[in-house]
Amino acid sequence: MDADIVCVGFGPAMGGFLTTLSRELQRASGSTSLESMAAPGLPLQVMCYERADDVAFGVSGVVTRARAISDSFPGVDLAQIPMAARVSEERVIYLGDPLGASRRPRWMRLADGAVRKLNRVRGSQAHAIELPWTPSFLHKQGGLTFSLGQFNQWVANQVLSTGTVQIWPGTPVASAVIEQNRVAGVRLLDQGGPGMEVRAQLTVVGDGPVGPVGRQLDEQFGMPDGHHQREWAVGMKMVVDLAPESQLRPGTVWHTIGFPEPEIFGFLYVHPDRVASVGIFVPSWFDSPVRTAYRYLQHWMLHPYIWPHLKGGRLRSWGAKTLGESGRQGEPCLGGDGYARIGESSGCTNVLTGSGVDEAWLTGVQLGEGVIELLRAKRPFTRRNLEDTYVQRRRRSWVEAESMVAAHARDGFQKGVLRGFLGMALAGMSGGKLTLRGEIRRPQDRLNGLEEFFKGRIPAAELRTMRERCSVEGKSLHGALMEMCGWPAIPYDGQLLVSHQDALLMGGKVQAAPGGEDHVVFLRPELCEVCGARTCVEICSGQAITATASGRPTFDREKCIHCGACLWSCAQSLEEGSERTNIAFRAGAGGLHSAEN
Ligand SMILES: Cc1cc2nc3c(=O)[nH]c(=O)nc-3n(C[C@H](O)[C@H](O)[C@H](O)COP(=O)(O)OP(=O)(O)OC[C@H]3O[C@@H](n4cnc5c(N)ncnc54)[C@H](O)[C@@H]3O)c2cc1C
Ligand code: SF4
Ligand code: SF4
Repeated sequence: MDADIVCVGFGPAMGGFLTTLSRELQRASGSTSLESMAAPGLPLQVMCYERADDVAFGVSGVVTRARAISDSFPGVDLAQIPMAARVSEERVIYLGDPLGASRRPRWMRLADGAVRKLNRVRGSQAHAIELPWTPSFLHKQGGLTFSLGQFNQWVANQVLSTGTVQIWPGTPVASAVIEQNRVAGVRLLDQGGPGMEVRAQLTVVGDGPVGPVGRQLDEQFGMPDGHHQREWAVGMKMVVDLAPESQLRPGTVWHTIGFPEPEIFGFLYVHPDRVASVGIFVPSWFDSPVRTAYRYLQHWMLHPYIWPHLKGGRLRSWGAKTLGESGRQGEPCLGGDGYARIGESSGCTNVLTGSGVDEAWLTGVQLGEGVIELLRAKRPFTRRNLEDTYVQRRRRSWVEAESMVAAHARDGFQKGVLRGFLGMALAGMSGGKLTLRGEIRRPQDRLNGLEEFFKGRIPAAELRTMRERCSVEGKSLHGALMEMCGWPAIPYDGQLLVSHQDALLMGGKVQAAPGGEDHVVFLRPELCEVCGARTCVEICSGQAITATASGRPTFDREKCIHCGACLWSCAQSLEEGSERTNIAFRAGAGGLHSAEN
């Protein structure tokens, strides 16, 4: 099939692009200035393909200043979007460890002691301390708390109502079609019949942090010198119906540090009608080979500072997704002959301010404006022309300026949490002039074997026995290990504290179309057999990867929620020195069915 512009993915970045372009197409209808090249005489043919079964299935916590989004909708009260609320209160909270179970550095144990004393004086049981101020770089005052799903749906409705653009959910793009170093369109995933080839003058890639098309382009065209994508996190969240007696006001924004592990950050955002989004981020620099998000999220919810606000609540939906945390250091080639990159896969997420949605949106708007300029001038979509229009707009904007401030803000975490926080504070307060720079190691180089990580806490022989038992029983190790480290069992209440499997059912049922190929592939199974870490099993957000006695894990498409965390949590490089791990994360249909995440 021939089109003029073909788009991969519908997230906030593509929302910004299509909003900008479709308005111009609507204005231009009847005139010939933006006529189709693929079908002369017709308006421009713009097709957008989204992997998930609906455009509303994005996962994100979302508090945003919404500067760029507001600029795109002058006069519109964005707080009217379902589940949106104006930010009313912001807090940063240090959570102590009331259980003594987390693996804390000495300075944090001292901090916990100080928190305990202070709480005793105040007669508080919270094991926490609120920072007296929110650092300016974290501020979202004047912004909104959103549901990404509801926001995406609202944007898609605006775009579709112009009648100028087609958006096809449930249609994964398998790959870009590359001919003589030029992107000539895309090939859709084979879903029972051969995947169609859609040829276009411009392919817009906004497939998010782990999108297969973006990664294909990185492999084909390479990254700019010195750039790499080595920093990741998985964000896991729950949308919760708060108990009727909850005092949390809509627009409340809490960020937490310190618990359940020093490396794990938490958030709580409140929507209207007593609904909240709560979640944690587990980063790739958390060296535990049993890094898991689900159980840690439950312990975070049960923290004495948080739980009184969630007690009596009910799980509405649940989800998880990877964040690309390399920011400016992970920026790929933004444009080439026949293609352009926008959104998180183009390295625009700001790792200092913890903001990605507004940045993604703006990069889409900038490409939209650039494309309109080129179409009007009848200039082709070459690398040079995209540089002159799209990339130049981006370089002149706040996305670029702020991403430069943030570029090395989090390097310090490579050498410990304290250094990480200091580095962030320095970068944030000096506008990026002062940083604690350091080498960013590949995630697979950070994952020690179990024995090394639990040295001094669990004897090596016991670890081996536990691993063998879990492999035979097809279970993940983290539950058993966490209990040994002092984490208590989760007191399931059938409402909010439910098993991981129940969350999969309650939180947005997973479904995979029959007959398709697996999208998670263990490229060299022999590496799995000798892999000491098996982090892929432990991190898996959907319990879709299971250990076996042979050492080769199995993958169940029906359970995969497409979080992408296995891709960067695999402990083995594909080849010596390679950035790639032993897991391929390809295009696939299915995943979570929830428009609230
Ligand atoms: C738990 C969590 C909390 C977060 N909290 C915040 C926050 O508070 N504030 C903030 O600003 N940001 C936050 N973020 C980050 C934010 O969600 C992202 O920066 C933002 O969604 C990036 O937008 P995007 O359009 O570039 O990519 P995405 O939103 O990832 O959209 C990409 C789309 O492409 C689709 N796709 C992928 N591959 C294919 C394919 N092969 N074919 C077709 N479609 C494909 C995907 O299904 C997806 O819909 C959070 C993220 C998470 C996970
Ligand atoms: S996929 Fe990676 S982490 Fe998992 S067993 Fe294989 S080599 Fe190890
Ligand atoms: S198999 Fe699916 S659910 Fe599990 S980590 Fe990989 S992408 Fe996430």
